[in-house]
Amino acid sequence: MNPSESQFPPRPTALVQQMLGGMICEGDLVIDATAGNGHDTLLLAACVGESGRVLAFDVQEAAIISARGKVSAAGLANRVEFYQESHERMGDHAAEESVAVVMFNLGYLPGEDHERTTETGTTLGALDVAVGILKPHGVLAVVCYPGHPAGAKEAEAVEAWMTVRVAQGWRVAKYGAIGTRKPAPFLLVAAK
Ligand code: SAH
Repeated sequence: MNPSESQFPPRPTALVQQMLGGMICEGDLVIDATAGNGHDTLLLAACVGESGRVLAFDVQEAAIISARGKVSAAGLANRVEFYQESHERMGDHAAEESVAVVMFNLGYLPGEDHERTTETGTTLGALDVAVGILKPHGVLAVVCYPGHPAGAKEAEAVEAWMTVRVAQGWRVAKYGAIGTRKPAPFLLVAAK
């Protein structure tokens, strides 16, 4: 990380990749709850190694196609199972306390139908499901986008949800730029 570059401080999307890259082990089962264009799916697939697995969810076919293409081009398709389903269904595909990391990158699919954004109700529902399938000491990571009204409401609700986890003994942190023209994207990370 070079502080003279424009990439400093790192964006939440870069920071979450650095953090998760350092904690995912060979053989882990991990979940990308919002596959989108597959940038995070690819990183997760690289981290879990030959014996690990990534479950990747997205409701949009365009996202699944894009993400699958990225993973296939890297030769990692055999490590990833794609589901064109809402992330609230992740519990149908992973056993209780089996998952090392669940990550969400909220908002809309860049370059595609902006209508199909994540929504507060389903996001919170999926976070509740994630709690059950995460291992003890498993990590939940959520990149929030408060820069537009709906995203701000969703980000606020996710942060409130995380605050409840703190009261239950989880360790939670928030990272994001300050003093920006519009509220900047931020990362919430939580350890069970
Ligand atoms: N905001 C990010 C990209 C987020 S992509 C950025 O700027 O890079 C978010 C993805 O979540 C989209 O591809 C969208 O289709 C997907 N999504 C929306 N609702 C979902 C749901 N209920 N379950 C799974 N994926 C969902």
